[in-house]
This record gives sequence, structure tokens and C-alpha cells, in this order.
Amino acid sequence: MNKNIKSIILLSGGLDSLVSLGAEIEKHNVSLALTFDYGQKSVTDEIEASRKIADYYGIKHKIIKLGWLKEITKTALVGEAQIPTGKDLANAHESMSNVWVPNRNGLFLNIAASFADADDYDYIVIGANREEGETFTDNTETFIERVNSEFEYSTVKKVKVLAPLIKFDKTEIVSFAIKNKVPLELTMSCYQGGGKHCGKCESCVRLKNALKANSAEKYLKILF
Ligand SMILES: [Zn+2]
Repeated sequence: MNKNIKSIILLSGGLDSLVSLGAEIEKHNVSLALTFDYGQKSVTDEIEASRKIADYYGIKHKIIKLGWLKEITKTALVGEAQIPTGKDLANAHESMSNVWVPNRNGLFLNIAASFADADDYDYIVIGANREEGETFTDNTETFIERVNSEFEYSTVKKVKVLAPLIKFDKTEIVSFAIKNKVPLELTMSCYQGGGKHCGKCESCVRLKNALKANSAEKYLKILF
């Protein structure tokens, strides 16, 4: 572990950000976790899960409030519309527009880049992954590369984005987590925000399928 390399993690408490943190904290000094409150239905659960995860790894946790993002987001994650179920993941592309938050990852990375530039952080870690990248363009390798190019100009520090899971699907993410003893019991991946995993929304279904594919009965029992 290289203590001199400082990183920020974008932490929602979901599977991807938890496992990204677990992957990078072995390599360098991940010392600040940022969780964003943009009025999402699951915000209380996300903050609670993120706090537990940050405590587990002994890192500083900061919550960033983005009230204006809530005001302009009209889709199901924030507004009154129904969150799509994960019944038919094949149609995830169609339901994408229902869970889209305007420029979310672009915004979050830029906010984190300000923290990095101000306090001499080298990296920002994000849970972007191949499976989400098939639906969301802001989860792709190209997106990460382009943001890195931007930061070469927009930060003095020339901060870089790390996406350790970018080539993984959810099954591979869970498999990696189990092998590397990442505390999966701490995750909260549900879009609904009912204090527990609903088991029905797209995010829950993806997690459930990945746990099943890994025969991770222990975590299926704890989380669902
Ligand atoms: Zn759910």
C-alpha cells in the first residue's frame, strides 16, 4: 500500500462503490468518502450505508447536498414516478430514461475534482462498471478517459479518475468482493429507500442475480 497516494471515493453505499473502495484501499490511501444528497428516494439509506462503510474502513465521510439537482430531476429516482422493476433487465435501456439524473456522474466527478485539487488528492475512485456501461454512457471507459482529459486542464493537480470495476459485470464484482473479503453485508443498493432491499427494483434484481450466480446464500439471506 502506498500511503503517499491520496484518493477520494464516490460512495453511495451501493455494491459498485463499496467494492471499488475495497479494491483501491489495498493499494493506496483512500481517505475521503463523498456521498451526494440530491433528494433521491434512497438518500437516507445511502447515507446510512455509506457511513457504516466509511467507519469500517476508517475514512472521513462527507455528505454533499445538491438541492438544486433534486429540483431539476424529474425521473423516478427522485420524483414521484414509479421506479422501474428489474423484471425484464433486457429492457434496461428503455427504462434508463426513468432513472436518469441529469449529468450525475459528470457532476459528481467534477465536485470531487474540486476537493482533490484543493487538498492534493491524486485520484477519484468511482464504481463505474461494464454492466451499467451497457445502459448508461457515463459508466463507460470512454467517459472515464474523456473526464481524465478534462481534468488535465481543469485541475492544477491533474487529478485522475480510477474505475477499478470498469471491465466487470455484477457477477464478477460480487465474486471479486467475496475473494477480497469486502464487507458485502454493509451494502444498500436499493433505489426505493424503504430501509431495506425491496428485491424488486432494477438495482435489487441485478444484485440478487449476481449473488445467486456466486452461490452467496449468506449475503442473500442478510440483504433480502
Ligand atoms: Zn430495490
